Amino acid sequence: MAENSGIEWTNHTFNPWTGCTAVSAACDNCYAEAWAKRSGHVQWGPHGERRRTKTWGNPVKWNRRAEGAPERPRVFCASLADVFDNHRSIEAAWRRELWALIDQTPNLDWLLLTKRPQNIVKFAPESWFTCGIPRNVWLGTTVENQEEADRRIPHLVQCPARVRFLSCEPMQGPVSIRRYVRKLEWVIAGGESGPRFRAADPDWFRGLRDQCAAHDVPFLFKQWEGANQKIIKAKGRELDGVVHDGYPQPVGIAA
Ligand code: SF4
Repeated sequence: MAENSGIEWTNHTFNPWTGCTAVSAACDNCYAEAWAKRSGHVQWGPHGERRRTKTWGNPVKWNRRAEGAPERPRVFCASLADVFDNHRSIEAAWRRELWALIDQTPNLDWLLLTKRPQNIVKFAPESWFTCGIPRNVWLGTTVENQEEADRRIPHLVQCPARVRFLSCEPMQGPVSIRRYVRKLEWVIAGGESGPRFRAADPDWFRGLRDQCAAHDVPFLFKQWEGANQKIIKAKGRELDGVVHDGYPQPVGIAA
């Protein structure tokens, strides 16, 4: 796990534990599963035990460094797991420590991106729903097609987070967010990377771009699809000649 993530929209990546189970088409070519198989570090799937990592000190360091910085660093949690995975091997204490770590690092914005938003209410601290979700928590869900949009977004938008976002990557079909867009603060879209990448229709990205523009929702076009980063980078990040690099408005953390 690199300290500085190569992912366009984040500054750091933190995995409290590793291991996961595929849940939808977006998982078909999961890079984390491929990494797990290569490294032998963790068993994947419903029968594999999740493993707690040894990198829990990193966010504290990043938080210290970010004190007084002009921009708040974003931390993607988690790239090799799903924070709201309900696997039996994830100890309740790990989750409690993660919520405490988020509280202890107010200079960082935590991007909790999940494909299991139906579990947020079950696993997030009760105080998030009685006293409010910490302002440094951004809650997001992956949406690769309309079926997952209609299944996942209703769970996300019922959570009163300061930033609720969609990661529409790898996009696998057109997605209408018309019913939910007023409750979203950010939309990311992108094609699939890796040797088994699936082709995307540019109109799928255009559709999201236009829906976001119509409702003043920041839109970030992350990448075209391709077999490797060299090819993807050569294609550039323009959509119809424009680089879309929208982010939610920076808002002070003080309530
Ligand atoms: S939810 Fe994420 S980490 Fe888990 S299998 Fe799917 S793509 Fe991989």
